[in-house]
Amino acid sequence: MPDWTDRCATAPAAAEEGGRILVIEDDPLFARSLAELLGKAGYETMHAGTGGDALRRLSSEPFDLALVDLSLPDISGQAVIEGARQGGCDLPLIVVSGETQIDAAIAALRLGAADYVRKPIEPAILLHSIRKSLKQYRIERQHRDFLRRIEASERLHRFLVERSPDLIFTLDGDGNIEFVNDRLESLLGLDRDAFAGQHFSAIAHLPDLERARYAFSRRSLAEKQVHSVELRLRSRLHPGGFRHFETVVAPVTGQDHAGTPADAAATDAGGYYGVARDITERREAEAWAAFHANHDALTGLPNHTLFRDRLGLSLIQARRNREGLAVLFLNLNRFKPVNDLLGQAKGDELLRQIPGRVQPCLRGGDTLARFGGDEFLLLLTQIASRDEVLAVLNRIVEELRHPFALGDRQVPVSVSAGIALYPDSGETPDALIRHANIALYQGKLNGSQAHTFFVEEMRSSTAYKLHIEDELRNAAERGEFDVYYQPQVGVEDRRIRGVEALVRWRHPTRGLLCPGEFLAVAEEAGMISTISEWVLDKACEHLAAWEAKGIAPPRLSINVSPQFLERQDFIDRFIAVAGRHDVNLERLEIEITENLFIRDPLLIVEKLKQLSEAGIRVAIDDFGTQYSSLSYLQTLPVHTLKIDKSFVSTIGREHKQNAIVQAIISIAHSLGLDLIAEGVETEDQAGFLAQQGCGVIQGFLVGRPIPFPALEDMLKAQYYQAA
Ligand code: C2E
Ligand code: MG
Ligand code: MG
Repeated sequence: MPDWTDRCATAPAAAEEGGRILVIEDDPLFARSLAELLGKAGYETMHAGTGGDALRRLSSEPFDLALVDLSLPDISGQAVIEGARQGGCDLPLIVVSGETQIDAAIAALRLGAADYVRKPIEPAILLHSIRKSLKQYRIERQHRDFLRRIEASERLHRFLVERSPDLIFTLDGDGNIEFVNDRLESLLGLDRDAFAGQHFSAIAHLPDLERARYAFSRRSLAEKQVHSVELRLRSRLHPGGFRHFETVVAPVTGQDHAGTPADAAATDAGGYYGVARDITERREAEAWAAFHANHDALTGLPNHTLFRDRLGLSLIQARRNREGLAVLFLNLNRFKPVNDLLGQAKGDELLRQIPGRVQPCLRGGDTLARFGGDEFLLLLTQIASRDEVLAVLNRIVEELRHPFALGDRQVPVSVSAGIALYPDSGETPDALIRHANIALYQGKLNGSQAHTFFVEEMRSSTAYKLHIEDELRNAAERGEFDVYYQPQVGVEDRRIRGVEALVRWRHPTRGLLCPGEFLAVAEEAGMISTISEWVLDKACEHLAAWEAKGIAPPRLSINVSPQFLERQDFIDRFIAVAGRHDVNLERLEIEITENLFIRDPLLIVEKLKQLSEAGIRVAIDDFGTQYSSLSYLQTLPVHTLKIDKSFVSTIGREHKQNAIVQAIISIAHSLGLDLIAEGVETEDQAGFLAQQGCGVIQGFLVGRPIPFPALEDMLKAQYYQAA
C-alpha cells in the first residue's frame, strides 16, 4: 500500500468546502489508502467495490464527486459512467486508472468523466483535480439554481401580471403602449396586438379621449412622479360600451428593473408602468344610489326632493330674469277604483305610463315629478300668464284622455290640478308646493275636476285643513311619527351634554318628512298638541330606557309648541306623561320660542314656574330671532338660551352678526344662564363660540339628528368608554 502521508502534508490545504466522495475501486487496500488521503484533506469518503454497487449508491445517496476505477469486477468503469449519466447523475466523475488503460480513460472522458488521474496516484494531482472539479461543479450548480430561480420568478411575475384583476401596462415616454396584460382582452374585449404601439388614449371611451391624451402626454407624464387619473375605457363586453378605471402611472426607474444595469439605463430613458383598476361596479352602485335617492322607483321620474331642488334653482333664475313660473299639483281622478278593481299591479302599470304621455307636452326647463300615490308635481318655467299654464295643462288633459291599455281594459284618465304661480302665490319652493296642494284640495271640495289657481284665502280653507288633518290623524294612528335626536356637546371635549328630540314623519309615499314640511299645517289644523304630546311620550319612553341602562344623557330637550303650552291642562298632561315613564324630571328641558310671551305673558310665566318647581328646565329656542325682551329673561324661570343658527351660520362672515353672538353670550353670562349654539357646521364657528365662552354646541359639525338606536350607540360609546 503506498504511503502518502508526507506528501499529503505538503499538499495544498484541504478543500475549504469539504464534500462526500464515492470511491469506486475493487482493490480494498487501494481504496482504504485513498480514503485516508482524502479524509486528511477534509473529505468524507464512501466505498463501492463493484460497478453495480456504485450505480445503486450514486442513484440513492447524496455525493459531491466520485472517483472511478476503470477495471471493476462486474462492469467496466465506462459502463458505470454511462449508467450514472443516463440515470441523471450530474456529479463530477474522476477516472482513476493505470497508464495502460489510457485509451479507455479517453473514452471515459468522452462519456462525460470530469477528469483523468493516472495511477500510481500523485496525491497533489489527485487533490487538485478533485478541488477543481468540485469547484467547477459547484459553480455550475449555482448557475443552474440561479437560472431556475429566475425562470420561476419570471413565471410568477408573468402569472401575477396576467392573472391580476387589474389592467397592467407599460408605456414609452410618449404614452404609447409597450406592453399590456391579458385583461385588455378579457375585461374590455380589445385585441392586445392591435393596441401595441398605440397611444394609451386609443383605449379611452370617446368622451374621455381628450383627457386621456392630455394625461398621457409626454409633458404631463414628466410633470409628476405618480399620476392617477380616473378614466372610462372602451369595452366591447360591457353594455354601456365602457368601464370605469382608476389608473395609476409611475416612471420605471433602475431599481424597479430586475435586469442588468444596461437594461435599467434603457428604461431610465423614460418608460412608465401603470395599473388600471376596474371600479365600474362601485361607480355604477353610486350612480344607482344617487338616482334612486332622487327618483321615484316606479315611474323613474324625479321625486319630491329633486323637484324641490330644481324648483329652488328655477326660482333663483326666475327672480333674476323677472319671469314667472308655475307649480302644479296633479291628482289622477278615480285612480283608486282602478287600483281596487283591476289590482295594484295594473294600477302601477298605469302610473308607469303617465310620464310617456305627459312629458311630450313639456318644454326643456319643465319638470314632472311623482309626489306619491296618484299625485304628481309639475314645474313650468318662464310662464308669463295663466293662459300659458292652462295651454300646457289642456295638452296634458287631452293626452290622458286617450284610454290606457291595461290588460284587456281600456281606461281613460282625467286629472285635477292645483296651481300656484310665482311670484303671486308664494316665493319659496315649500310655499309654492304647499299652496298648489291647497288649491287642489280646495278645487276638489268645490267639485272641480279640472284646475284651481291658489288664492290667499284658501290658506284657511277647511278643505285643505281637513285633508291634512286626515293625513296627520292617520299618521299618528299608523305609527308613522318617529323621534330623532340631535346631540348637544361640549365645545371643548365634544362629550354629549344633552340631546334634542325632533319629530319626523315617515310618510307612506313621500318618505321621511322634516317638521318644516308638516308642522305649520298641523298647527293650522289644530293638530300640533297631539303631535307634541306624542313626541313627549315617546321621548320619555326612550329616556327611561337609557336611564335603565345607565346611559341617559344629562339632558333631554323637547320642543313645545305654543298651542300645547297654552292648553289649560298642559302642566297636568306633561307631568302625567313624564310620570308614567318614571323618568328623572331634572333631565327634562322644554324649548319654547320668544313670541310665546307676546300672547299671554302672565299665564305663560305661571306655567313655566310650575314646570320649574317640578324640576323641569326651560330653554328659549331660536333666541334673538323673534320678539326679544330682556325683561322676561330676568323674571322668568329660564335656564338656557339657544343661539339661533342664523347667527351662527354667519360667524366670521358678517361682522355685525359676530357682535350679536357676543352680546347674546354676555347676556347669558350676566344672567347666569346656560348657552347652546345651534346650527354649528364648521370648526371655525365652534372655535369662535368656544373663545367667546359658549360651552355647548349643536349642529351638523358634531352630529345630525339620528334615530333612537343610533343615538343609543353614541351614548354607549361615550359612557362605556369612560367606565
Ligand atoms: P329647532 O328646535 O330650532 O331645531 C333645530 C333644527 O335645526 C332642526 O331642524 C335641526 O335638524 C336643524 N339643524 C341642526 N343642526 C343644524 C345645522 O348644523 N345646520 C342646519 N342648517 N340646520 C341644523 P328640524 O328637525 O327640521 O326641526 C325644525 C324645527 O321644527 C325645530 O327647530 C323645532 O322648532 C320644530 N320641531 C321639531 N320637532 C318638534 C316637536 O317635536 N315639537 C314641536 N312643537 N316642534 C318641533
Ligand atoms: Mg328646538
Ligand atoms: Mg332652534
